[in-house]
Amino acid sequence: MFNLNGKVCVVTGGNKGIGRGIVENFAKAGAKVVYALGRDEAALKEVESLFPNVKGIKLDVTDVAGIKAFVASIKEEHANIDVLVNNAGITRDTLIQRMTDDDWNQVLDINLKGLFNMSREIAPVMMKAGVGSIINISSVVGIDGNIGQTNYAAAKGGVIAMTKSWAKEFARKGAQVRVNCIAPGFTQTDMIKTVPDKILEAIAAKIMLQKLGTIEDIANGCLYLACDASQYVTAQTLRIDGGMIFGI
Ligand code: NDP
Repeated sequence: MFNLNGKVCVVTGGNKGIGRGIVENFAKAGAKVVYALGRDEAALKEVESLFPNVKGIKLDVTDVAGIKAFVASIKEEHANIDVLVNNAGITRDTLIQRMTDDDWNQVLDINLKGLFNMSREIAPVMMKAGVGSIINISSVVGIDGNIGQTNYAAAKGGVIAMTKSWAKEFARKGAQVRVNCIAPGFTQTDMIKTVPDKILEAIAAKIMLQKLGTIEDIANGCLYLACDASQYVTAQTLRIDGGMIFGI
């Protein structure tokens, strides 16, 4: 039931971590092709080598001209882009008094404007075809906030607000273009490698299921939102966080 047979999918940050797990899940679920986007060419080559229906493409989500050229090239080959996962993201964590303009700008540029750059080009393709699914990767931090993450929380909260706006805007004139968010809790990837073990243990102790999330946990939620099993689901934010209560 959770299949992507014949679908054309695009996953930003598809070469590592959660994005790579999403790409692998989509490829296994029968997607016609999964375009894995990222900046690190070696990692792109590696993910491409795993499945015949995965193509690694070097593309930075802040590169507007590059995104336009990429979407134009896909339109020459395919009638639609059925699924877009806006997953690429970074952190530059520190307390606000130490946060530089560069920390703020980089995180907002990639984690918020990057999604706008991608969706501005791809949503019209989906609307023209009359069908599509966009999944934005936010974070529990975008809902609950977190110490040392002013920039990240602002971006991820903005992602949820954009999701709700796009769900309304892209469904006009009967288009079945759905837009949803996933808000992962702490998930075992490179992104949280800088967090000391002691802190991670303390976090896990406050999670109802008493453990951190895995890449598969997030990728499975993403597959549900991408495929037709969720065809009546839009404008939602799915927390995948093991039942996390974000304290101070
Ligand atoms: P990783 O650091 O493991 O991977 C980040 C991915 O984003 C990489 O593929 C990286 O590719 C890509 N990326 C970063 N900047 C750009 C850019 N400018 N253009 C294109 N690609 C870019 O992180 P995760 O897998 O953990 O995170 C994935 C998403 O999940 C992010 O949006 C993150 O905020 C979110 N998230 C993660 C949580 C966690 O606990 N891990 C919790 C909540 C949300 P490359 O290296 O090639 O640039």
